[in-house]
Amino acid sequence: MSEPTDKGIQWLKSNGINSSTSYWNLTAHELTHETLRLKQGVLTDTKALAIDTGEFTGRSPKDKFIVLDDKSKDVIWWGDVNFKFDSAKFEALSKKVANYLSGKTIYVRDSYACADKNYRISIRVVTEHPWSNLFANNLFIRPGKDELAAFMPEWTIINAPGFHAEPAADGTRQHNFTIVDLTRKIILIGGSGYTGEIKKSIFTLLNYILPHEKGVLSMHCSANVGKSGDTAIFFGLSGTGKTTLSADPNRGLIGDDEHGWADKTIFNFEGGCYAKCVNLSAEKEPEIFKAVREDALLENVRFFPGTKKVNYDDISVTENTRVGYPIHFIENAVVPSVGGIPKNIFFLTCDAFGVLPPISKLSTGQAMYHFISGYTAKVAGTEMGITEPTLTFSACFGKAFLPLHPTKYAELLGKKLNENNVNVWLVNTGWTGGSYGTGSRIKLSYTRALITAALSGELEKAKFDTLPVFNLSMPSACPEVPLEILNPRSTWKDKNAYDAKANELANSFVKNFQQYSSAANDEILASAPKVTESA
Ligand code: ATP
Ligand code: MN
Repeated sequence: MSEPTDKGIQWLKSNGINSSTSYWNLTAHELTHETLRLKQGVLTDTKALAIDTGEFTGRSPKDKFIVLDDKSKDVIWWGDVNFKFDSAKFEALSKKVANYLSGKTIYVRDSYACADKNYRISIRVVTEHPWSNLFANNLFIRPGKDELAAFMPEWTIINAPGFHAEPAADGTRQHNFTIVDLTRKIILIGGSGYTGEIKKSIFTLLNYILPHEKGVLSMHCSANVGKSGDTAIFFGLSGTGKTTLSADPNRGLIGDDEHGWADKTIFNFEGGCYAKCVNLSAEKEPEIFKAVREDALLENVRFFPGTKKVNYDDISVTENTRVGYPIHFIENAVVPSVGGIPKNIFFLTCDAFGVLPPISKLSTGQAMYHFISGYTAKVAGTEMGITEPTLTFSACFGKAFLPLHPTKYAELLGKKLNENNVNVWLVNTGWTGGSYGTGSRIKLSYTRALITAALSGELEKAKFDTLPVFNLSMPSACPEVPLEILNPRSTWKDKNAYDAKANELANSFVKNFQQYSSAANDEILASAPKVTESA
């Protein structure tokens, strides 16, 4: 499949890309070798390909645009998440990018998104670099041989990291951009080699198509399934533990980041995982550690001097070191990546204040309140010398990827919660024993034990206490977890300091929720934390 067909060349021409040498649907192995040949990467001791993504080692949310046209204008949640892009400017910029790619060697790949065939979309990905194409191979769903022969691309991603826009002429903010055109069905990515732009642009697209056109809830969550067929999903912002906690030796992995909830199924949008590598170890995260092998793509890591052994503690390039691999690299992955309606939902929050309990059970009203709020805390980069954690509220645990207003997703979730019997848990994967600086991050093994007990039903057997201010229902016991950590207040030496922090956090919740309160019902509003008098 590597040589272009006449049809393929014609397709490139119709997109303005002329006389390029194009390689079509190369295997992961071939793309790895192309990358090595071009000296854009090296092989590690486990034969994974390691590359640097260049100037960008993370997404650039301020440079993400949606083309303003009849299809988008009244539907998109315009503002600081979705920036408008002029349609004529898009046309002109597409031509410039096509000219830039013309005459170059390019890599074309046909893939799918959405493991449930009822919702599947076909995507053709054209990349300037072979490793970006390997990323698309690893992360999206790989068509079979027959499917490839009959492939009809509906959506196109053009990925040109080496192309730099001229903001004044091209209508961009700076030299890099990710622009989604819903009418032309093209996603144009330029100036950034960060591969996450490729996957998250499709996530953004599906966050439009599925709720708006198909009545399916799209979710920023991971998913796995137990031996008895019980599905669990884990919502959470970046770094809260979606990928880490969904890789569970006792459960089948459905997916690590993006899913849809249809009438009868939960389905993965993707065909691979994109795991963080910072401090990765065989002891703590054996499944992910083992997935760093031949055909996997490592990003922005560094080696132990004089070796090709990755030093996962070295974050000198970025804290956001990553590895992308096809989902079947996780031993117990479910194929196809589809499961039934979830029995348990976990909201993961990395609370750097150390205020929220390691686990608590939410009522439906509380579940809606926390879903709309999307609280987590980011710990500022140590290199800046900042020690205070930054609060973030990211609606639906994925605000940055929502083309529609958050209430659209909340309505769909509310309907699902009312129609099905689902347990919803709030899990703090962040701090305990004090805020960032005083306390410490809760041990991964404790979080895993709490989740295991919630899934088995064991946790329900415990007596539940209520945490003041947040009114959260916390278990008083859990196997393999020290009792004293279950109530966050008891882990703080200074109880007054805890109460003050809890009030401070509650205040932030209340303030943040004001923007959504007109769309929320009484049950949801009653679930807001109650700031105490002394605050
Ligand atoms: P993204 O959306 O960026 O992919 P994510 O939600 O998938 O983020 P993970 O990749 O799972 O996040 O990152 C969680 C990180 O936090 C991992 O590096 C993990 O080792 C670390 N960690 C430390 N303690 C815990 C804990 N108690 N629970 C979960 N993760 C923990
Ligand atoms: Mn992840």
